[in-house]
Formats: sequence, C-alpha cells, structure tokens
Amino acid sequence: MKMKILITENISGSGIDGLKEKYDCRWDKDLWQKPDEILAMADQYEAIIVRNQTKVTAELLKAATRCQVIGRAGVGVDNVDVKAASDLGIVVAFTPEENAISVAEEVLGMMLCMAKKFVGADASVKAGKWERMDFLGVELYGKTLGIIGLGKIGDRVAMRARAFGMKIIVYDPYLSRHHIHVTESQAELTDLETLLRTCDFITIHLPLTAETRHLINREKLSWMKSTAYLINTSRGPIVNEAELYEALKGKVIAGAALDVRETEPPKASPLNGLDNILLTPHVAAFTVEAQAKVQESLSEDVDRVLSGRPALRFANFASPRRSA
Ligand code: NAD
Repeated sequence: MKMKILITENISGSGIDGLKEKYDCRWDKDLWQKPDEILAMADQYEAIIVRNQTKVTAELLKAATRCQVIGRAGVGVDNVDVKAASDLGIVVAFTPEENAISVAEEVLGMMLCMAKKFVGADASVKAGKWERMDFLGVELYGKTLGIIGLGKIGDRVAMRARAFGMKIIVYDPYLSRHHIHVTESQAELTDLETLLRTCDFITIHLPLTAETRHLINREKLSWMKSTAYLINTSRGPIVNEAELYEALKGKVIAGAALDVRETEPPKASPLNGLDNILLTPHVAAFTVEAQAKVQESLSEDVDRVLSGRPALRFANFASPRRSA
C-alpha cells in the first residue's frame, strides 16, 4: 500500500507532481483554514506538507501517529512546533535557502520604490497630473543601510546594496566580526541603538522568536532619523504595527515598507490610509524561480525521508526517530 501525504496549502509544481505519482497524496489548498479537519485526519498520513499558514501544533503532531516528516515549504518554521516534533521523533524538513534571492530583490525594490516615490508618482500621472515637484526623490548611493539580522537574506541584501554604493551597518549579536557575511559585505557590526540612530534605510531579516517579537516598538522608532525608512520582509510581529502607525502618522520616520503583518491576512488597518507606507501581501518570496526551487527541494526531502534516506535540509534532524 502506498504511503500517504497530506498537503494543506497551495503548493504545486514538478516536485509535488512526482510525489503524487509515487504516494497517495491528498491536496487541499484551503485545508489550512480548517484546523479541526486536519487534526481529525492527521493519523492517516506519513507526511504533512505545509506553507506558513497551517499551524502545526504539538496537539496536531501528537495526533499524527504515523507521521515521519513535516515538510515546511519556506524558511521560517515559526508555524511548526519544532520542539514537539523533535520530542516525537518527527523530521521537520524546510527550504532555508531557496527563496533568499527573491526576498533580497524585493528589499532592494522596496528601497528604490520609497527613495524614488514610484507609487505616488504612478498614481499621480494616472490621475492626469504632471506634478514633478511632489516627487523629489533621494539616491541610495552614499546612504547607510542598517541590516538587522545578517543571515542568508540579510547577506544577499548587503551584497546588492553595496552595488548601489551604500554603506552597510549590521546588528546581529550572534555573528562574530570574522563571519563570512560580515567580512564579505564589509559591514560594520554595531548595537541596535547605534544602527537605528544612524541609518537611512533599515531592513529587518530576523526569525520570529520571543526575543524578536515587537523588537521594533515606539521607543526604537523614536531613535530613527526623521528621514529614515524601515523595511520588514521577515515576520510581521517583529514590528509593533500600532506604534509604527503612530510613527508614520507623526512623521517620526519618513516611511516604511511591510511585506509581512502582525496578523495575516491583516484586518482593516489605519496603515492603509497612509501615503508613506508601501504594503505587499507577503509576496517577497513569491517568484516563479523561488517557488519552483522551494517545491522541488521540499518534495525531494519528503521523498528521501519516506524512502528511508536522510533529509538534506531540516530544522531538527535528518531521519525520523520514532519508536515503532
Ligand atoms: P537566517 O536564519 O539565515 O538569518 C537570521 C539572522 O538573524 C541570523 O544571522 C541570526 O544570527 C540573526 N538573529 C537571530 N536572532 C536575532 C536577534 N534577536 N537580534 C539580531 N539578530 C538575530 O534567516 P534568513 O533566511 O535570512 O531569513 C530571515 C527571516 O526572513 C526568516 O526567519 C523568515 O521569517 C523571513 N522570510 C520571509 C519571507 C517572505 O516571503 N517575506 C521569505 C523568506 C524568509
């Protein structure tokens, strides 16, 4: 009898097609919205594949008595209780590198968009106006970019920003000054307060943890220059949205760009009424190339685990440690 795989979100492509041929796959892109249904059927599946919307809780993992591998298509594993999975011997496979380039490109795009006021200028011209003086921009060249978290994405942002002639300052207390990301991007490591007080553009590339939740709040925003821009493409709850709204409304900072929100999808938000914020619906990694790489890599690892081989990319361990 074929082993069974449950896919609870919208993920497709050649890798997933391969899994469908080899295994008994149930794919329902909206299932993530019905956690009770997932819980009720969890004990039937050897693998569960999710994106970022399905909450893979300790309760779900305990109910998934045959499960050998959770496949998380993407980077952040904050929607998966990795500790509970590890305690149960379940592999958590994910795709830590596959979408880093896409996210880095989105950040550069957001910086250019805010510096050159593209969105407002586009709306103005389409409204029949030709008001050049409203759209005086700034150059990225010579500006200081502050990167909070110089991991895979932060490093790629740094390398691209250097091509624009930006100076790079980094806050990442977990990196030594000789880490390859620091040396290669010629970044200056500093503390968070210095970064916030000195940078012209600040971009966040952190995992969501107890330590990073609401790291950017009213006080930290007040340290930023009134001409500075904040960009968050990591996880929404790292920025206190209500306090960001106050800072934008009061012109404490010049502008912000958010790809991720405290609640997704977001409820009606006063941020929508501001003209100094750029909002995108968690699409930084949503490119043809990144999505292809993510589903190929993840499918490969789910197949490897189900056929008794170690996963290549995992958040805990490579092979299941379940007692029979
Ligand atoms: P990574 O693990 O490679 O890098 C994270 C960096 O943050 C590390 O260098 C780490 O030392 C640093 N860090 C951890 N805690 C810190 C703290 N308290 N203060 C300062 N630095 C800290 O992760 P990555 O691949 O670069 O991804 C970053 C985040 O981007 C992910 O966790 C994910 O949540 C998010 N992401 C979002 C999208 C999207 O579509 N918007 C796509 C991919 C990833």
